[in-house]
Amino acid sequence: MSTARQIQNCSRFIRHSAQLTCRRRVCTSQHIMASRHTHAKRIEGLDKNVWVEFTSVAADPSIVNLGQGYPDIPPPSYVKEALMKAVSVDRMNQYTRGFGHPSLVKALSQVYGKVYERQIDPYKEILVTVGGYGSLFSTMQGLIEEGDEVIIIEPFFDCYVPMVRMAGAKPVLIPLRLKSGKKTITSADWYLDPEELSEKFNSKTKAIIINTPNNPVGKVFTRDELQMIAELCIKHDTLCFSDEVYEWLVYKGQEHVKMATLPEMWDRTITIGSTGKTFSVTGWKLGWSIGPEHLIKHLQTVMQNTLYTCPTPLQEAVAQGLLLNSELMGQPECYFTSLAEELEGKRDRLASILQEVGMTPIIPEGGYFMLVDVSSLNQDLSHMVDDEVYDYKFVKWMIKEKKLAAIPVTAFVGEESKKQFEKYIRLCFIKKDSTLEAAGNILKNWRKV
Ligand code: PMP
Ligand code: GLN
Repeated sequence: MSTARQIQNCSRFIRHSAQLTCRRRVCTSQHIMASRHTHAKRIEGLDKNVWVEFTSVAADPSIVNLGQGYPDIPPPSYVKEALMKAVSVDRMNQYTRGFGHPSLVKALSQVYGKVYERQIDPYKEILVTVGGYGSLFSTMQGLIEEGDEVIIIEPFFDCYVPMVRMAGAKPVLIPLRLKSGKKTITSADWYLDPEELSEKFNSKTKAIIINTPNNPVGKVFTRDELQMIAELCIKHDTLCFSDEVYEWLVYKGQEHVKMATLPEMWDRTITIGSTGKTFSVTGWKLGWSIGPEHLIKHLQTVMQNTLYTCPTPLQEAVAQGLLLNSELMGQPECYFTSLAEELEGKRDRLASILQEVGMTPIIPEGGYFMLVDVSSLNQDLSHMVDDEVYDYKFVKWMIKEKKLAAIPVTAFVGEESKKQFEKYIRLCFIKKDSTLEAAGNILKNWRKV
């Protein structure tokens, strides 16, 4: 470069820097944010989040935490050992196949091959992602687009609506209705009105999201209920996203039916699973989507261009855990069965404590959450000035005054259903007996303090 050119470039640089300095002086950071760096439209109104809000308040060790859903019971030792072993192999600490570590997708195909009673292609019909969340996200991004409508049943796992919105589509909500007049209410008393549901389908409907066993109600959809939904999907040629992360956690007298196993549903269903729920390791954040190649390939496109791959040693350890339990399936030692049995005891224990103190639990048929109707407590919260729904105030008050954390149920419904659900809170019962006992003591002393 000539000297003249160098001088020219140099003075251009000085001029540009001076302009920047000058601009910096006049522009406050707020101004910059308001003008150029505002949020993308797709996240508009999605900033409030129940987990962000409540997990930090419940983190204080003096609080008995039945809020966020995670086990405080230990995961099976063999998955932890398998992870340590995996990490000790150098190759396992490097990238693995993007759509799922080969041994994991093969193990998933082995386990689910038995469950679905069909061969599942480990490479074309499975995608391993970052948790059930990642699976839901890649499903929405890969299959939903602007102008689409997606039917969501209330109460719903809270991220469904934001994910549908971020994909540019419109969530269409339909609440479960409660059969009234029963003394003991179970999650089976919450039902979907077939006529109301059929009115939600139209030519814009791209998919319906179902969640069985359901978070937060604990409802396990019966074969007949799923059949009714399936017929609407077929009639309107829509997809079904079936979130079955709690698939193994069903209690006596219940059967978990996979939507994808109903006639003509395999080709239009993506089923979502999670390691966090399967092996009580929510911090491992591995999930999977299973479905036909013509749908899974679009989720794989999302994966390869966003996250690319998941941690290799974790996938290897989960593969080992699945293979072990695949051999044990149908036997009491199988973790899929033994965890459900253990949890059923915890469910009954928590329900009877709640009943003893005059609260009304909704006995869940599956999952590890229990709704509780707190109306009978008649807790006056009028002193709380916050412009918030009753359950949010109730939970905040309960954490502060009673040192017991729960999750407000209106976090799982849309604006129009808030009145229907504002007297419910959600408790998580995948907890040590000592944690449940501590919660029980708080509840028993409720009136005394
Ligand atoms: N779906 C449901 C119904 C859930 O409750 C959760 C939360 N655990 C997820 C999906 C997300 O699962 P993961 O923690 O594996 O991302
Ligand atoms: N799925 C868990 C629950 O429902 C946790 C979700 C989260 O913390 N983001 O409690």
